[in-house]
Formats: sequence, structure tokens, C-alpha cells
Amino acid sequence: MALIKCPKCESEISDTEKICPNCKIVLRENSKRPIIFLFVGISIFIIVLLSVAFYMSDTKSMPTDMDTDTYNLGVSALSITDDFIDTKITLSEAQTKLESITSSLDQLYVTNKNKVTLSVKEDVTSISTIMQSSSTYKYTSSTVTEKRNLLAREIYKDLR
Ligand SMILES: [Zn+2]
Repeated sequence: MALIKCPKCESEISDTEKICPNCKIVLRENSKRPIIFLFVGISIFIIVLLSVAFYMSDTKSMPTDMDTDTYNLGVSALSITDDFIDTKITLSEAQTKLESITSSLDQLYVTNKNKVTLSVKEDVTSISTIMQSSSTYKYTSSTVTEKRNLLAREIYKDLR
């Protein structure tokens, strides 16, 4: 036990005192309180985190009848198409990349026999075809965008 000075009245008091016997100032808060606040804080943080995760998974998750590989290939095809629409890549670059995705989807269908995989493949093929004709016949990019939106509806649950 040691003697300390009260921060208010400066009288010498024991360091085990919770309240100054002289001026009655509270020297130490109940030590359980900060732990309760910490617990409540962490609980709120976890709840917020779970809510955000749930919201994200609900709006951006793949349809239940689709597998992860098909979904990922579809998302890639979508981003390639968007790059083409935004003229970030050329027609031949876009088509080369889309062709590689189409053959991956073909191989995937051999093993998974999922009709959704075939359907996504048809969407990607039709995007590639319309890209070709839009450059040959000077079609507007709206035809590519139309096909792009078909693919988006296929792979994103919230757009179905
Ligand atoms: Zn005091």
C-alpha cells in the first residue's frame, strides 16, 4: 500500500481508496465497466460486419443453379465486353479473349452437364458475333450492349 496525492484536494491518501475520504471525489471507476463497453462495442461491430456481408452476398451472388466456374467465366466475359464497349481493347483482342472463355465453358459443360453453363456460353458467343458485325456493318454499339445485358441477367441473380 502506498500513499498518493488526491488530484483534487491534494491530501495524502492510500492508493487503494476508490473515493477520496477528504473531498469524496471518485478516484477509480468500477473496473468492470470498460470491459462491458468493449464487449458491446465488439458485438455491434460483428453485427454490422455480418449485415454488410449478407447484403453483399444477396445482391452479387450467383444464381443457385449456377456453379462458381461458370459464374467466374461469365463475369470475365462481361468485363471484356465492357472494355470493348468503352474502346479500351480492340475487336480482335476482345474476340480472342471471348473465344478462350467460350472454349473453357465448352470444356466445363463436358464435366458438369449444367444447362446454365451452356446458356452462358451461348450468350458469350452471341456477344462475339455481334461485335464482329457491329464493326463490319457499322452497327451501333447498342446491339453489343443488348447482348451484354442478356449475359448480365444470366449471371447476376438480382437482374433476373
Ligand atoms: Zn480529495
